[in-house]
Amino acid sequence: MKIGILGNGQLGQMLMDSVQDLPELDIHLYDLRAHSNDALTAFLASVDRVTYETENIPANIVALLEPMAEKLYPSLTALKTFQNRLLEKNALRAAGIATADFCAVNSLADINEAIRTLGLPIVLKTTTEGYDGKGQYVLRSEADAEPAWQAIGNRELIAEAFVSFSRETSVIASRDQEGNLVVWPMTENVHHEGILRYSLYPAANLSDAVIEQAERYIRQLADSLDYVGTITLELFETANGLVANEVAPRVHNSGHWSIEGAQTSQFRNHILAISGRALGATTPRYDAVAMLNVISDENPAKLAETMPLAHRHSYGKEARPARKLGHVTVTASSVAERDQTMNALAALLPSAVWPLSE
Ligand code: AMP
Repeated sequence: MKIGILGNGQLGQMLMDSVQDLPELDIHLYDLRAHSNDALTAFLASVDRVTYETENIPANIVALLEPMAEKLYPSLTALKTFQNRLLEKNALRAAGIATADFCAVNSLADINEAIRTLGLPIVLKTTTEGYDGKGQYVLRSEADAEPAWQAIGNRELIAEAFVSFSRETSVIASRDQEGNLVVWPMTENVHHEGILRYSLYPAANLSDAVIEQAERYIRQLADSLDYVGTITLELFETANGLVANEVAPRVHNSGHWSIEGAQTSQFRNHILAISGRALGATTPRYDAVAMLNVISDENPAKLAETMPLAHRHSYGKEARPARKLGHVTVTASSVAERDQTMNALAALLPSAVWPLSE
């Protein structure tokens, strides 16, 4: 079976690598930045299944996918829904999942109205193409309305009530074509300057009720869309339970730990699901796992030599400020051992924001 992946970044690469041992699955990556309509149409026609490593696919390319919809997984509906934060929030609500209160914003007057109805602070976001905190503006007073509008008002916007959360988590699942669903354990995710720095399994002090809520939420979401493939739900943990932040209709940075850390990775189950195969078990292989992003300051020699317990992944990218160049996964037989290795790693990586390194 020939599978085409739209996008040839690290996620596409890791999807491809995850099924290297299955020669009957012939995976091809397509660089969307270099696309021409003819070349892409020919590529789409030449494969049996189409999937994507990113939901940030421009409308002119989405239009080319319409006639191919029956071989696109996750579906065109899922792609369009999770491309747009307003549609995404509506889908979450329709699936019975708690979200921040929100409203659409198309003018400065709408921002002032949002301040009245949602209260301050407000997070203003572009409805499309925001990632790693880009295209966002936090309003703390009425005086922020005008500068926020100047900064990002040239786009369709969503205003969200500010969620007062204790931490950020995510839950990732894969759903197959028969509707079977497998879920990886939740991770705690720590961001800095809008970029994920590290993810931890297990997340400390997760109650059974919270774990049950996360698993129920992702099942409700995937079932509501008859979703096929790997799906990620980012969740704020609050005093009143979990509140959904956003959805990725794909594998996610916070699930990279599953390559070494779980019996089956988020990447492999995605390919198994979309190719009509049975899903693998998501059970962790270790008592404790951490994933640390390497951002803009890779030091391959040092990392490779000094860390026998760490699995290093380099994306082969040129260094740029705030760019993810790779990640390191730490597998350990206890949380204490994991955190000790993280201390040592963080000392090698100036970009690491790891509390125990201080
Ligand atoms: P996003 O791109 O939507 O994931 O937002 C990036 C980051 O901004 C999140 O990881 C949160 O730390 C923060 N954030 C986003 N939306 C909200 C919100 N409604 N309330 C509080 N913090 C938010």
